Amino acid sequence: MTPLLNDRDIEFLLYEFLDTESLLERERYQEHSREIFDATLKTAKQIAEKYFANHNAKGDANEPDFDGEKVEMIPETKAAWDAFAEAGFLAAHYDFDEEGMQLPEVILRVAMSYVNAANVASAGYSFLTIGAANLIRTFGNADQQQRFLSHMKTGRFAGTMALTEPAQGSALADITTKAVPQDDGTYRISGQKIYISGGDQSLTDNIVHMVLARIEGAPAGTKGISLFVCPKYLVNDDGSLGERNDVALAGLLHKMGYRNTTSTVLSFGEKGGATAYLVGEPHKGLSYMFQMMNEARIGVGLGAAVLGYQGFNYSLDYARQRPQGRHPSNKNPESKQVSIIEHADVRRMLLAQKAYAEGSLALCFYASQLYEDSHSAPEEAEREEAFLLLDLITPIVKSFPSKYGLKANELAIQVLGGAGYIREYPVEQYYRDNRLNPIHEGTEGIQGLDLLGRKVIMKQGAGYRLLNKVVQASLQQIAGHESLADLASDIKEALDSLNEVTQSLAMKMAQDPDRILSNASVYLDMFGRILVSWIWLRQAVLAAQALEDEGLHEDEANFYRGKLQTARYYITWELPETRAQASLLKSVNSVPFEMNADWF
Ligand SMILES: Cc1cc2nc3c(=O)[nH]c(=O)nc-3n(C[C@H](O)[C@H](O)[C@H](O)COP(=O)(O)OP(=O)(O)OC[C@H]3O[C@@H](n4cnc5c(N)ncnc54)[C@H](O)[C@@H]3O)c2cc1C
Repeated sequence: MTPLLNDRDIEFLLYEFLDTESLLERERYQEHSREIFDATLKTAKQIAEKYFANHNAKGDANEPDFDGEKVEMIPETKAAWDAFAEAGFLAAHYDFDEEGMQLPEVILRVAMSYVNAANVASAGYSFLTIGAANLIRTFGNADQQQRFLSHMKTGRFAGTMALTEPAQGSALADITTKAVPQDDGTYRISGQKIYISGGDQSLTDNIVHMVLARIEGAPAGTKGISLFVCPKYLVNDDGSLGERNDVALAGLLHKMGYRNTTSTVLSFGEKGGATAYLVGEPHKGLSYMFQMMNEARIGVGLGAAVLGYQGFNYSLDYARQRPQGRHPSNKNPESKQVSIIEHADVRRMLLAQKAYAEGSLALCFYASQLYEDSHSAPEEAEREEAFLLLDLITPIVKSFPSKYGLKANELAIQVLGGAGYIREYPVEQYYRDNRLNPIHEGTEGIQGLDLLGRKVIMKQGAGYRLLNKVVQASLQQIAGHESLADLASDIKEALDSLNEVTQSLAMKMAQDPDRILSNASVYLDMFGRILVSWIWLRQAVLAAQALEDEGLHEDEANFYRGKLQTARYYITWELPETRAQASLLKSVNSVPFEMNADWF
């Protein structure tokens, strides 16, 4: 089995890169300790190894099947769901008085990283259920919390997010699923949803769909969308299952990867209307759903990062073992072949993978820390700042790992050569699984529009200015470390350039938004490279400081040397691309924009 992540790196990220132990000073974590955090993660890892990793390939080769009555799944999937739920992970972040473990967000995200690394497709059901339950917890009424949430926390019910329709994917403002109010206060929903992950399965007694729909007579656009809870089975007051609701599985979709997560087409209301319950106020559904979408965007980034990580782990091990060829300077055909890791080009591919995977994971954990601070930091100003930063960078946290985790998987295949292309080796599955991540939860194009068209200019650019302040201050401090001053200066130069670009684009936005936003994906990538360079430099400083200890054990020293070299690789090899990007953006290069659809 490919080792799951790297425990030393997780420890480094949690306790050196992030100061997770300092959370123990907060009121909410008074009863916790580092030992409890570590024991929780150990349990998550054990569950991941025992119940998830065992059927990653089997689930891929035996995707769920619908016989017209029931969804057939390999039995290991249910065992994995049960193990994760029984260990309390579906409610790990809930307060003690909500029957939770009151654990910090970042600990839950690391726990999810292990199960995702073991089997991202089987982990999908938990990921969705946690997000759907959080929505009901925040916006649902007491009855909805009792009837649905209480069973989602224990794993008796699972949850989904039902947004996409056959004709509406990126443009949610145009959804047409209809909700008709009833005299008893419930609604009847009708319409079709597509690609709904976990929309049917054979793991749980019930499935709780969080559905976006339009109440009859609602205004057009996003301001007319409401959020509903619509279960597969109605639930009686005592928690027992009632009638089968009017939600039918119209079919399963067959995918390139992520195969053990069912992808469903759901028909609501074929027999007159599915019973549904309005969450919160009418017409505010999309703003509520953004809570789940934002959480899911971090989750997608995390899933993509760990898939990149797994490919890196496997190809690293392979490169150490596979003998092939000799160094260019060695002309002796009778000499022993070297392992392919001895070839600098293979090390380049491994370095790039390490930079993308570990950089993405650190970025996701940093985002989880911001999420945590936005909820549990003692001062309100600190909570607000964390929220602002997280809101700004969420498109990057989603898209950077999705793009570069996938690139890492492509490189893992390349490191294996022919073996990489063969299904007996796991790297091609990592690639196929990861190919979903730049598509769902808002495509890369949509993330670019969100960042440039909304996030950097929101609140008169307050989030953007704050991030700048944080990064500039950190760079200034790091510039004091002689060995890293050149890297800090490279990032500063790129950041100054991003500031120029951002200011110039923001000023032109009002006059010609279509042209300005036509290069939003380039802007997204440029911003992402700079943010991740900074994330790498922060890791490099810690490594440089640790290496000052001359008594460091050789393994430890190698760990830190690896961090330093990877930071240097990323900042000197991959950051400079931002110069070309800045030039395109500053001149508002409009070649794609002006390419006429008839000229293709
Ligand atoms: C395996 C899988 C699981 C999924 N799970 C769920 C789920 O659980 N729940 C759910 O509700 N949905 C789910 N989805 C749906 C997913 O979120 C959508 O597929 C995605 O948002 C894109 O929508 P679309 O497929 O309609 O593509 P489209 O919106 O048609 O986009 C096609 C292309 O056009 C681009 N594009 C579209 N609009 C614009 C624009 N305004 N500007 C620039 N470019 C644009 C896109 O970037 C993309 O490249 C899932 C999808 C898949 C494949």
